[in-house]
Amino acid sequence: MPMLICDTRDGWTKFLLFVKERCSPTAFGNWLAPIRVTDATEQDITLEVPNVFVKEYLLTNYRKELCSFLPVDADGEPAIQFRVAPTLSKNFSEDQPTSTEDLEETEDSTPQIALNPSYRFETFIEGPTNQFVKSAAIGVASRPGQSYNPLFIHGGVGLGKTHILHSIGHHIRENNKRLKIQCITTEAFINDLVDSLRNKSIDRMKRFYRSDVDILLVDDIQFLQNRLNFEEEFCNTFETLINQKKQIVVTSDKPPAQLKLSERMIARMEWGLVANVGVPDLETRVAILQNKARQKGLELPHNVAFYIAEHVYNNVRQLEGAINRLSAQCRLMELEITEELVEKTLREIFQQAPKQRITVEQILKSVATVFEVRVSDLKGSIRTKEIALPRQVAMYLACKLIKESLQMLGASFGKTHSTLLHACKAIEKRLEKDETLKRKILIVERNIYAA
Ligand code: ADP
Ligand code: MG
Repeated sequence: MPMLICDTRDGWTKFLLFVKERCSPTAFGNWLAPIRVTDATEQDITLEVPNVFVKEYLLTNYRKELCSFLPVDADGEPAIQFRVAPTLSKNFSEDQPTSTEDLEETEDSTPQIALNPSYRFETFIEGPTNQFVKSAAIGVASRPGQSYNPLFIHGGVGLGKTHILHSIGHHIRENNKRLKIQCITTEAFINDLVDSLRNKSIDRMKRFYRSDVDILLVDDIQFLQNRLNFEEEFCNTFETLINQKKQIVVTSDKPPAQLKLSERMIARMEWGLVANVGVPDLETRVAILQNKARQKGLELPHNVAFYIAEHVYNNVRQLEGAINRLSAQCRLMELEITEELVEKTLREIFQQAPKQRITVEQILKSVATVFEVRVSDLKGSIRTKEIALPRQVAMYLACKLIKESLQMLGASFGKTHSTLLHACKAIEKRLEKDETLKRKILIVERNIYAA
């Protein structure tokens, strides 16, 4: 028995080591280092956390890992009892060695993202799918707080949301030096909040955001999803600023109504103007390529630009990647750019040219075909082996191929996230020795992508 108690504590230590290698020292210092083990048995472990955010952080980000390092309860959840430390931060700020990097960030300065010097309106190429959002952004930048407030920009990955956000910042900075601009990612806002909680400087932070900021630019608000406690704080800040007619601009990968946020928050987001950045059409993609090539001093023949634009279609960042690779290749080999050279150099990018987003339905269909069962059976609750295995495979693939929270994915199967997690683990385990299964899953995946 004492052995096992040791094992649980040991599991925690191993978990910490595991995480330490995978996250930044600041994140580790903020989130994980303050956690104390107060008790451990063979069935569970009791952790003392400085506040509920730390617990939430741990469970949101590391549920899977916790399950493999610590005992698991009957529902497949990590068996952890959480206790919030009685006095906020006092204990651990005294005995917690703080790294210098930590100090820099937790000092009086509120973190702020430097504006990327090349993200400017002048370098943002317009086309039919982004004209509207660009002119809305210029409108907001020219008369902050007076036209649309907030301006909510949404669209897929790599389509220029951050570019537009920073362009607004530059424009305001150059035309109205007195206005204080705070440009921040949602992740940084949350970290800032946690730092403030640790340092008991939450009032200072609130004061800063509510009275020292004239323009608030917030990138990637989707990271506020499932972060209930932070959401409320954000919402309050938001309302205070808007009531003072201070401009807010928010970017997101989805429109407000599709975000998993409170109704209050969604309503606030929809208050002003909601604008979409779409995938640029062929002509715009060609223009973007030629523009980027010019910036790099690369001579890009029109037919080649056209060829690339035809193959790389829904992510501007990949267009840039193509140019970068091509430019490196040409310079290295002193070659002339031809379609053949492009084809060779970019084969990799073309292969992974993003297909449309994969859905649970697509996965179910493909699994059903390969395992010769019906989609309705996969969705149902029959537990025979013939159905249970493909069902687990579908869940496993959903986790693997769709970037969504386990909760969301679970919901689309009508299952809890722990069932999903259990399925993933079961399949992963089986894959270690079951070659037939491995091959079948490969076929399923290939069919999904070919569809
Ligand atoms: P997002 O924030 O939407 O994921 P980014 O703003 O980071 O995308 O854009 C990805 C890259 O593509 C950036 O380097 C950006 O400058 C470039 N980019 C995106 N759209 C355009 C555009 N219309 N014109 C010029 N460059 C663009
Ligand atoms: Mg971005």
